Amino acid sequence: MDTAIKEKIPYSIEHRLVRPDGSIRIVHERGETSYGPDGTPVRMVGTVQDITERKQTEDQLTLASQVFENALEGVIITDTTGMVQFANPAVLTITGYTPEEVIGQNPRIFRSDRHPREFYEKMWKSIATEGGWQGIIWNRRKDGEAFPEWLSITAVKDYTGKAMRYVSVFYDMSLIKQSEDTLRRQAYEDALTKLPNRLLFEDRLATSIASAGKAGGKVGVALIGLDRLKNINETLGFPAGDQLIQKAAERLRPLVNDGDTLARFGGDEFVCVLNDLKDEQDMVKMMLSMLEGLSLPFSIDGRELFITASAGAAFYPSDSSDSATLVQDALVAMRRAKNQDRNSYQLYTTAMNTRSYERLSLENDLRRAIGREEFAVYYQPKLSIKTGAIVGMEALVRWIHPVHGMVSPVKFIPLAEETGLIAPIGEFVMTEALTQLKKWVAHGYGDISVAVNLSAAQFRDKGLLKTIGNTLDHVGIAPLRLDIEITESMVMGDVNAAITTLKNLRDMGVRISMDDFGTGYSSLSYLKRFPIHCLKVDRSFIRDIPANADDVAITSAIISMAHSLNLTVVAEGVETMEQLEFLRANACDELQGYLFSPPVPAPEMGKMLASGKSLYALK
Ligand code: C2E
Ligand code: CA
Ligand code: CA
Repeated sequence: MDTAIKEKIPYSIEHRLVRPDGSIRIVHERGETSYGPDGTPVRMVGTVQDITERKQTEDQLTLASQVFENALEGVIITDTTGMVQFANPAVLTITGYTPEEVIGQNPRIFRSDRHPREFYEKMWKSIATEGGWQGIIWNRRKDGEAFPEWLSITAVKDYTGKAMRYVSVFYDMSLIKQSEDTLRRQAYEDALTKLPNRLLFEDRLATSIASAGKAGGKVGVALIGLDRLKNINETLGFPAGDQLIQKAAERLRPLVNDGDTLARFGGDEFVCVLNDLKDEQDMVKMMLSMLEGLSLPFSIDGRELFITASAGAAFYPSDSSDSATLVQDALVAMRRAKNQDRNSYQLYTTAMNTRSYERLSLENDLRRAIGREEFAVYYQPKLSIKTGAIVGMEALVRWIHPVHGMVSPVKFIPLAEETGLIAPIGEFVMTEALTQLKKWVAHGYGDISVAVNLSAAQFRDKGLLKTIGNTLDHVGIAPLRLDIEITESMVMGDVNAAITTLKNLRDMGVRISMDDFGTGYSSLSYLKRFPIHCLKVDRSFIRDIPANADDVAITSAIISMAHSLNLTVVAEGVETMEQLEFLRANACDELQGYLFSPPVPAPEMGKMLASGKSLYALK
């Protein structure tokens, strides 16, 4: 106004008014100023128009056009003849046509020819009668590609109800389909590690349990938790923690078979499902290899980080038959492991734990024992009952464990058989025993032989003859100095194969004894078929002689029948003079037992041989 007055021009301004009730109006004010003869302004004449509503409509229009401009949906407005009057930028992104190319055209340019004419007829009928149409329609982009779009057409009518324009809003459904796929994947995948997430894990576990239930199989669930993650997050920051989890996942993934599942369970926890589990031990092995894998240093941001982990496992169906409880059990086991040693595992069932732990640590120790030369051979003399002289000895292996001391062969031989460690152990015993015997023979300790026990696995081994032959050659001792002890169960499986092996051994010149006789099949008629030299009556028959009349009868029957087959008879576990008297009366040939000596280390055995110690000097 000031400017208008000064420059003597009309004015036109828009401004706000605040009414007494506080409401705001916007007005358009125009005016002219009249001036006196001396040029001073005397009055103003003009109009004030309330333009509040118009202003609001304008704002809304700006807003609407901004919405159109920025919308992801394509918007096309046509007049009643179908000519496009307006197209927003999204039309370009979706169809490939610029708004300029579209304006003035008929939307027919988008047609894909995928729909029959009736489709369009129905569409227009719906627009005419119901004022609009919505649905999926296949259209074609400028480059020719057909795509599905969600289309909504609305008729804009004038006040008489006559359609003036049609507004079409549409979006590209092929994009939606793609993102649905991504969403589905994201729902089952852990974003950080790309491993299956907890949801997918639960799904898979349920499936595993269901199929194991039908097939009568076992399923194992193990949780593996990183112990120090919280610490690392706090000191080095979350990105470092994330990197650690990624790298841990990379280490764990290759350890798990395709048919099994490794998933990210939560923050610092992984979970592993093993299907078709034969033995709980396999799960223990898996956990151990995972713990071992995680115990190696991680390089994060050029820094070497060491972490520890804890693992816990539970099994279907022995621990629980329901998946949620199974996971809970594994969690309990993992917490127990965390509270014990770091880098350790626990099984939910504690009893199983101890068994498995003992077995496992024994197995690991056994492996190391071979390299560390923790084995020793003890000797138990074998005596002639007739003369009382030492005629030989049985080699019995001993494991001197650095922590547990002497471990009984009854405990570790079966384990050695299962793990294949029996081969090196057996070879060690035979070489050691023969080398030792050779020294004793050289000292002139008589016509003695050494008996070596064979395990079932060794007996079945195709290379047995070669191994024995090589050992004899290597040591440089006559085969008749070696007595091989086998058991009935070893020859009863494949009788013909056993006979062949035994014949070959006999032809080599090695002597063969049937150990623990009476505890197995004890078939004397079978014995006839085997080319053996000696029969050892099991300790269990000797133990209760002479008190037990049955044992007395059986033992004397075995002795006389063995003699009829030309076999030498050895009584095992002879502890008393009464037993010795009985054996002598029944013409048993030889004996072994605490009565004369327990198994002893080589130097003591050597002393016995040197002193010419006799059974009858005991009296
Ligand atoms: P086995 O061949 O029957 O060995 C005899 C076992 O009876 C030995 O136990 C011996 O210490 C024990 N014994 C000897 N005399 C008496 C006695 O008067 N009273 C009592 N109560 N026991 C007596 P050990 O040394 O513990 O060996 C146990 C088993 O381990 C052996 O039974 C044998 O089957 C196996 N074994 C030992 N050494 C070897 C080996 O080098 N290779 C293989 N494959 N098995 C072996
Ligand atoms: Ca034996
Ligand atoms: Ca025996």
